[in-house]
Amino acid sequence: MSLVARLARPEIRALEPYAHAAWEPSFERLHANENPWRYPGDTSRAGLNRYPAPHPLELEARLATLYGVEKERLIAGRGSDEGIDLLTRAFCVPGRDAVLLCPPTFGMYRVAARIQGAEVLEAPLARDQGFALDEESVTGALTPAVKLVFLCTPNNPTGNALDQAAIERLAGALTGRALVVVDEAYTEFGSAPSLIGRLDAFPNLVVLRTLSKAYALAGARCGVLIAATEIVELLRRIIPPYGMPAPSSEAVLTALEAPRLATLRERIALLRRERARLAQALAALPIVRKVWPSEANFLLTEFRDAARALEAARGAGFLLRDFSRGALTPGCLRISVGSPAQNDRLIAALTLAAP
Ligand SMILES: *Cc1c(COP(=O)(O)O)cnc(C)c1O
Repeated sequence: MSLVARLARPEIRALEPYAHAAWEPSFERLHANENPWRYPGDTSRAGLNRYPAPHPLELEARLATLYGVEKERLIAGRGSDEGIDLLTRAFCVPGRDAVLLCPPTFGMYRVAARIQGAEVLEAPLARDQGFALDEESVTGALTPAVKLVFLCTPNNPTGNALDQAAIERLAGALTGRALVVVDEAYTEFGSAPSLIGRLDAFPNLVVLRTLSKAYALAGARCGVLIAATEIVELLRRIIPPYGMPAPSSEAVLTALEAPRLATLRERIALLRRERARLAQALAALPIVRKVWPSEANFLLTEFRDAARALEAARGAGFLLRDFSRGALTPGCLRISVGSPAQNDRLIAALTLAAP
């Protein structure tokens, strides 16, 4: 039996997808009840009076090249958040199935599961080993109801990359039983290779990537899910037609043109250098207890007095993300690496905050 036949919700497999209007760009469109004129000042390429492609095929072809996969293995959505949502809806039967998470981690996995009515099981990362994946704890928490195991590497909010061999062992152990979803939102800032290259070896592996972080397109809301063709085909049945707004597709296609891409890559290198500089400066401050090593564009920083640090940052005009009440992240704030000038101002503000 195929993986999808075994694991996906039967009603999703049986679903008749929405029959959208024909997509034949060489014809004049009198079949979709659109307005014949652009709004005054509409400078978009396609014209916002027109519906976008029902599925953003041109965008997906470009993203397939970017990530080095066949376009049949990739689906673009409104952020990788949509990938998380699609997987949860397609694979978890409400009230019966479950997802497994490794906290502390990204909050959307839990929210998507709760909305779907799926149970959330947890196998916490090992804080005393630098928030490493705890394979025994994952194996111990697994039940037959678990359809999706979410792993985030480098992990948000801890910043460390998970051990690739451990992820592969888990994917191997779960073959035919559950999907292992690896969220690589911050991969461009780290040194570990992507697991995209391992998709052929593990048919139950799913990789999420996003343009929100390294590609500076958080406002465009574009992310991708890369997996075996049969998984992508299933998700194409439930992703809303016309879901990707035309301005978003156009922004992504423009940002990925060669000269701009070169600038983006230089900025990634700059952020990595700033991450090292900021980490060193923070670690030297009396109010800081520990800066956790990071392969992402943020630093999980443990403070002797997190409330005071938050207040000092706010006083200088900065918002930081508060994880200080998390069971595994006491006293911790997550600090995004900013521009050199922003980092200087933040360091100055925190220098003045006595513990
Ligand atoms: C920021 C982030 C994303 C990106 O979500 P988008 O919907 O693509 O903006 C995904 N996963 C993690 C862990 C993140 O931190």
